[in-house]
Amino acid sequence: MLEVRDLEVAFGQIAPLCGVSFALEKGETLGIVGESGSGKSLTAMSVMGLLPLSGGRITAGSIIFDGQELTKLPEAAYRKLRGGRLGLITQNPMTSLDPLQKIGPQVDAVARLHLGITGQQARARTIEILGTLRIPEPALICDRYPHQMSGGMKQRIVIAGALAANPDLLVADEPTTALDVTVQAQIIRLLDDLVKERALSLVLITHDMSVVAQTCDKVVVMYAGRAIEQGPVEAIFAEPQHPYTQALIGCIPKGLSEDEHLVGIPGTVPTVMNYPKGCPFHPRCIRAEDICTKTSPSLLPRGDGAVSCHFPGAAP
Ligand code: SF4
Repeated sequence: MLEVRDLEVAFGQIAPLCGVSFALEKGETLGIVGESGSGKSLTAMSVMGLLPLSGGRITAGSIIFDGQELTKLPEAAYRKLRGGRLGLITQNPMTSLDPLQKIGPQVDAVARLHLGITGQQARARTIEILGTLRIPEPALICDRYPHQMSGGMKQRIVIAGALAANPDLLVADEPTTALDVTVQAQIIRLLDDLVKERALSLVLITHDMSVVAQTCDKVVVMYAGRAIEQGPVEAIFAEPQHPYTQALIGCIPKGLSEDEHLVGIPGTVPTVMNYPKGCPFHPRCIRAEDICTKTSPSLLPRGDGAVSCHFPGAAP
């Protein structure tokens, strides 16, 4: 359904994304995980063809969606695809919806534009989708404004908009970040159910490893604009090979005892202006050797996945 190969992105002379590759089959969920600033959202924006909005451009690589190369697609053709076969769920439902328009017309517009149906047909479809998303009294909700709804309900409306034109691929960019922790689990479960019921493919961008463990088939771990480890979720969680993946998994609270302390990763993600020479993770890596400060490791196959590290292997 989606194949991203050696993707590179630049903003002027600055290249924040370098050699990102992954593939996703129909009905699969792929998690893209990493700290803020690792390039997750840039990857999503590249797939959705939205980089030009922020002054970015794809400088190398390819994005193939259902056999179609997207990196060379003219904007007019992208506009038909985006919101149609490609659905986007954005991070913040508070700013994704038009505060001056009622809910119904906002969702109707997607189906009218992409499916070419009448306003009446679109409204019937909107009510049906809102019902599927477990929104009570969907016909009444269509007449409400976004400010009359809770954060969790607003995110369900954003999901309804993404589903309105019957997409094949959904890209969800940190869909629960702006929500209360109690609502987060509901939204993640909802997305998981939708993938299964509709045989959708889902790219789920998150910084939460436990969400990846619960919902994804595959995972790409990103750091400083690169994919540093990827593979099937079970394999990555059972035997992570990259020190950064091991550190991320080590940060998941076990919740087993009262005196458990939260674990962090020392240091911070480098900014794009300060990517270190060699392996970008070396200033924070407990396994770093001299070669790590000089030579950048390639992403090489290992087990069922791939890893970019000079000294991959189980945690010491
Ligand atoms: Fe650590 Fe070196 Fe591997 Fe980078 S290449 S993750 S610094 S061991």
